[in-house]
Amino acid sequence: MIYVHVPFCRSFCTYCDFYSELTHSCRTGAERPFAQWTEDVCAEIAARRAEIADTLAVNTLYFGGGTPSVLPKECLSRIVDTLGYGPYDEFTVEVNPEDLVEKGPGYVRSLLKFGVNRISMGVQSLDDGILRWMNRRHDAARAREAFRMLPAGISRSVDLITGVPGMTDKMLQHTVDEVVSWCPEHVSAYQLSIEEGSALAGMIADGRVKEASEEQCRRQYELLCRTLSAAGYHHYEISNWALPGHEAVHNSAYWTRRPYVGLGPGAHSLRIFPDGRQVRSWNSRSTSAWTVEGSEILTPEEIREEEIMLLSRTDRGPIPERDWFVADDIISGMI
Ligand code: SF4
Repeated sequence: MIYVHVPFCRSFCTYCDFYSELTHSCRTGAERPFAQWTEDVCAEIAARRAEIADTLAVNTLYFGGGTPSVLPKECLSRIVDTLGYGPYDEFTVEVNPEDLVEKGPGYVRSLLKFGVNRISMGVQSLDDGILRWMNRRHDAARAREAFRMLPAGISRSVDLITGVPGMTDKMLQHTVDEVVSWCPEHVSAYQLSIEEGSALAGMIADGRVKEASEEQCRRQYELLCRTLSAAGYHHYEISNWALPGHEAVHNSAYWTRRPYVGLGPGAHSLRIFPDGRQVRSWNSRSTSAWTVEGSEILTPEEIREEEIMLLSRTDRGPIPERDWFVADDIISGMI
């Protein structure tokens, strides 16, 4: 179970606090900073081979970010070749709709050639006003165009956001109805959270933006649950729905605490040793020459707490779906 963190974005979204650096698109892997980052990921792979091999009982690869689709395809292919463990049961790449449209169908074909069998697209909303407010690069028309470029036969996941200031229930209903009409195999929908350090946190602090009320968030969560369940989606995790058989393998393995290796700046890893010791480690945040910044051995109490917290997010845990909206705040507070 391998995660690669791609720390580049072409613009910053209002609500985001993920580790990422602003960059411009470029056509080949020869240009910095992508080339340097790619070589450093390959060096990290070489240094952590044994650890990577220990995580492959769950045979998945996930490129997340940041915005993996800003990477030239040569960088992706170099990392996949260096890893050399494919084909993977699930190989996901997160994409931005604007990148897909800009790079064209040839780029999508290249992803499939590298073994990608799942694409997760950050649509967020199909309301242009909301997309502008979020400072997303795409508009609704580009999202439609990008989704149409995804071929049948792979798993297509659409990311949405709810609980956005100014987003009415009608706007959300319109977005979810249209997304359902596209028949993606998977939908993730996250409630907007105010992350310290994000532009949004500053806007709320100085009164320019008023947070969505709890009532609005609850209504919008219920709207999602209702609409997606009526369309045949399995609500298998607080924020995730899938057509039967398309539940995310990689993310599901996080919720059952399988070991994983995180490559790239800021990435976290969980190593489970044969003697039962469990070690979490994390990389420093720098687009080149990052190192393991810290690690901790988890105590049995911490392990148990994480097991309960993570399983509670799923339909296999002790909290029934009807209580997930209330439970989400409590569970998030434990992370
Ligand atoms: S939400 Fe994604 S695209 Fe937007 S700034 Fe964060 S990592 Fe970049």
